[in-house]
Amino acid sequence: MKTQLEIGKKVLKVLIDHGHLAYFVGGFVRDFLLDTESSDIDITTSALPEETMNLFEITRPTGLKYGTITVFLEEYSFEVTTFRNDGFYLNNRHPDSVQFSTNLHDDLSRRDFTINALAMDIDGHIVDDFNGLSDLKKGIIKAIGNPNERFTEDALRILRTFRFVSKCNFNIDELTIDSVMTHHPLLHKISNERIIQEFSKLIHYPYYQKAFQMLVKTHVIDSIPDLSEGITFLSTHAFENMSDLHFYSLCFYMHIDCNVDNWKFSNKQKLTMQNIINLIEVTKDDSFNELLIYSYGLETCLVANDINKVLNPSNDQSKYIKSVFEGLPIHKTCDLKFKGQDILELTELKNAFKIGEIIDDLVYKIITNDLKNDYDILKQYTMKTYFNR
Ligand code: ATP
Ligand code: MG
Repeated sequence: MKTQLEIGKKVLKVLIDHGHLAYFVGGFVRDFLLDTESSDIDITTSALPEETMNLFEITRPTGLKYGTITVFLEEYSFEVTTFRNDGFYLNNRHPDSVQFSTNLHDDLSRRDFTINALAMDIDGHIVDDFNGLSDLKKGIIKAIGNPNERFTEDALRILRTFRFVSKCNFNIDELTIDSVMTHHPLLHKISNERIIQEFSKLIHYPYYQKAFQMLVKTHVIDSIPDLSEGITFLSTHAFENMSDLHFYSLCFYMHIDCNVDNWKFSNKQKLTMQNIINLIEVTKDDSFNELLIYSYGLETCLVANDINKVLNPSNDQSKYIKSVFEGLPIHKTCDLKFKGQDILELTELKNAFKIGEIIDDLVYKIITNDLKNDYDILKQYTMKTYFNR
């Protein structure tokens, strides 16, 4: 099987053979030089988006506004973006317009950090207009140009600084860090959707704890209050295999005034997080029990337990939770042998809420071993208790 780099060179060759300039750029070049894995390959070119689309059989205009076409070749895909100059930035986040350019230097100068502004041609020659190679060698994250201007243009770059600490184990250049410390309140203007996206990357890179320590030290967390206690705690406590769900639930639990609804997660994710937070509160000094494990489900209980375990290492109930779950007489309401449908058929009761209350009672009695999940037993109990029959 060919590597992604080999196929990427084919993409460059097609562009070059048609008279365009084309380079690998950004994160891929940085990671290639650091000999670390890169998830994707970005290509920058003088070809206009329509020209790129005409040159390849399978393409998708994934970011047409910003000049990005995804090119699919063999088993890989590549984001091919036209050289561009960014216009004025709006709301400390997005350029109001982009202008396509005919030279690579313009494109490199709009990028965030020197280590992210390296380009590589088809023969492996590096274009290094901003001393990125030297910073890569020194292990330094340094904004291109004036950091105050760069962070004011786009405040998300403040968080991106810490993403690269987490990914590369680098330190932050002195002027860049001063500027981060001055401008972090601009993060209040960034939508929490973007903040979620950034943290979802940061926490999965190997040096996330170092990044958390630096977020604390630079006071950047003061501008993300819902996450501040959680990040402070995690900066000194290891959390093995931390998922996004673990991270946000722990942070939201630790920030007393947090309103999960303010965050742009799906309703399902928000409900899961709220359930986890409730469970942590109930079980932090107490045991999980059959009813909790049935009501919240295995996965949610295990996530809450993982968080309890980090908050208090002696509180690991995972084996107990799994064995209780396996031993539950029912796992869902539909496992009941006597159902709402039976109540409808056997009685005059038509009120769905009332029927629901009876079903809840049956579930409770079964889970607490007061009743067996048997049609005749449940029918007899229901008729006697609720219908005097
Ligand atoms: P990762 O490996 O974590 O994906 P990356 O460097 O590939 O890191 P991306 O967010 O995928 O980061 O962006 C690709 C490139 O686009 C960056 O290397 C950088 O050159 C440029 N870039 C991305 N976002 C910004 C931004 N907000 N401001 C300036 N340049 C940016
Ligand atoms: Mg990337």
